[in-house]
Amino acid sequence: MLAQQDLTSLKGVGPKQAEKLHKLGLFVVRDLLFHLPLRYQDKTHKTDIDSILIGQEALIEGEIVSQHLNQGRRNSLLVKIQSPTCPASFLTLRFFHFHYRQAQQFSRGKTLRVFGEVRSGPNGFEIVHPAYEFIDPLNPPPLDNTLTPTYPTTDGFGQASLLKLMTQALTLLKQYPLQELLPRTLLEAQQLPDLNQAIQTLHQPQPEDDLQQIKAFQHPAQQRLIIEELISHQVGLQLLRKTEKQRFAPVLQSGRMANELIMSLPFQLTGAQQRVLHEIQNDLKQGHPMQRLVQGDVGSGKTVVAAIAAIQAAEAGYQVAIMAPTEILAEQHKLAFLEWLEPLGIETAWLNGKMKAAEKRVMLAQIESGKAKVVIGTHALFQDSVTFNQLGLVIIDEQHRFGVHQRLALHEKGQTTSNTHPHQLIMTATPIPRTLAMTAYGDLDLSVIDERPPGRQHIDTAVLNNEKRLEVMEHLAHKCENGVQAYWVCPLIEESELLHAQAAEVTAEQFRRQWPHLKTGLIHGRLKGDEKKAIMAAFKAHELDLLVATTVIEVGVNVPNASLMIIENAERLGLAQLHQLRGRVGRGSLKSHCVLLYQAPLSQTGKSRLNIMRETDDGFKIAEEDLKIRGPGEILGTRQTGGLQFRIADLRRDAASIPLAQHWSALLVENDSVAVKALQARWIGQNIDYQHA
Ligand code: ADP
Ligand code: MG
Repeated sequence: MLAQQDLTSLKGVGPKQAEKLHKLGLFVVRDLLFHLPLRYQDKTHKTDIDSILIGQEALIEGEIVSQHLNQGRRNSLLVKIQSPTCPASFLTLRFFHFHYRQAQQFSRGKTLRVFGEVRSGPNGFEIVHPAYEFIDPLNPPPLDNTLTPTYPTTDGFGQASLLKLMTQALTLLKQYPLQELLPRTLLEAQQLPDLNQAIQTLHQPQPEDDLQQIKAFQHPAQQRLIIEELISHQVGLQLLRKTEKQRFAPVLQSGRMANELIMSLPFQLTGAQQRVLHEIQNDLKQGHPMQRLVQGDVGSGKTVVAAIAAIQAAEAGYQVAIMAPTEILAEQHKLAFLEWLEPLGIETAWLNGKMKAAEKRVMLAQIESGKAKVVIGTHALFQDSVTFNQLGLVIIDEQHRFGVHQRLALHEKGQTTSNTHPHQLIMTATPIPRTLAMTAYGDLDLSVIDERPPGRQHIDTAVLNNEKRLEVMEHLAHKCENGVQAYWVCPLIEESELLHAQAAEVTAEQFRRQWPHLKTGLIHGRLKGDEKKAIMAAFKAHELDLLVATTVIEVGVNVPNASLMIIENAERLGLAQLHQLRGRVGRGSLKSHCVLLYQAPLSQTGKSRLNIMRETDDGFKIAEEDLKIRGPGEILGTRQTGGLQFRIADLRRDAASIPLAQHWSALLVENDSVAVKALQARWIGQNIDYQHA
């Protein structure tokens, strides 16, 4: 009905107008009903001049007592009106844009009704560019009886036209009410209105509706739509998860090799590592694909957990693919895995995008023949030329660097070879706040490594003005003379890899000139893979004291002896990135320090970001703050995927409702497949692509 009824069936909408409405995502009448106002104006009652408040939007009447042209930096027309009830109270109307005819109309003695936001001006209260009309004080036109909505509009389709369409759509809604899809019990328990009433209220709120509540998105009518949208989203994820659980995967029993590795490690696994490992090992035995996300702050020891899982798969006769987001990280994993797997007799292979053809051919052959059991690489692993022999487990490290799409592409890769699907283990060092994880990765099981290896100390962080740069350099040189290894990070200054590299080059040069005895290395994205590899190895072997770097070292680089990090232009980096970078130190038992240099003046958010960094090195706290500042889309890097675009809900604002939504969606998925389908059609439609995974 309304879901099928084309917008052109409404009065005033021809093909041209319809096309404009499509730009707002509006195609059928139902879309119009879900196109909610951005805000509302309250013109249902008058406010007297002597009781207005600064910052308030008010409807005010008064008699013109004077008008004059104020000549200043910007000319403005000032019209002064007087309160009809309190002759000592005045309000100034200020117009920067006006024409002569208009100015003429504001003659003394006429009565105006104006609407706008009151602010404090040089001569008391004023409103800049109010909406206004001349009225007859003895016979004033009636006031509005509902609040006036303001809709998101598009070029060539303004407020007034949209308002007319809404009126038609709401009349249709009365004839053909939309189907209620939420359970009665939920609405009653939460004291929420039904769908049709909620829509009606939000388009035409009544004077008794609490505007402050609506502004804060706390009105029951809004809460109802928010919860419905969140439930629809959760339902999609839960169905995805259910489908996955019904598929088949190889049964990977744990053998003796995993224990052998654990016994040979120079450290004991933390309680958290053991717990998470247990969850993974258990999943691998189930015969259905594991879909597990392991979250663990930087340095919490995810790699060894991944290695043990890989061993379990390899020992059971299956292949394992380990994908890292950067070459540096893939290289590092390769070294760590070689060290752990070789003594056990497990063959490894690796692939990256810049490999020489001959070497690549050898690797590809080993992968295809199944000789190599564990395959490590960048996303090159999932190119078409790679054929796995018996892929049983896919491990994706630092997931947030890959989008949802890549995760799914990977999934497909494993599928094509047989009718079983590989297990998936996804590891992320970006601790995603729990509510966000439930929403973004609701199709995955979640494990958290919430403990650091013993002996790790907090990283002391100082925030300093860039004026102190030279002193910081001296301090660093002094430290390095005493055996400390340090990073100096020059982040992106321009959106150019070249300038980016140059900034690091200049700094490295400065160190080499002033402190020639200091062994200074330089690493940036423009170096060849082999060069990067050699420099990282030299730093790791302590053949270098100082590594000047761009943000290429952001993810995963592991040199436990490095204990000092300086980050320049720290104000330009986001919290997550600063946390990742800083996580390159504090990885051993040495007391570590970090200096954040900033270029004054600092913006308000810049200041609060750096303060958070100084106060805590708890990744979860930082992630919560980051969510507040940046919003979920950017944290997850899924802005473009459509997966996390909500029409009404906002993960920052509505996080508290997510557990409720999850609870009810589970009930719906169990008990009401008809409602589930209808909810998805209503809220998600065709634009969710990961449904097909
Ligand atoms: P991340 O979780 O950031 O990937 P890594 O796996 O790189 O962390 O581990 C960081 C460092 O901690 C490595 O040098 C690793 O060998 C070491 N490590 C891991 N687990 C432990 C542990 N239980 N005790 C001591 N050191 C550990
Ligand atoms: Mg890691």
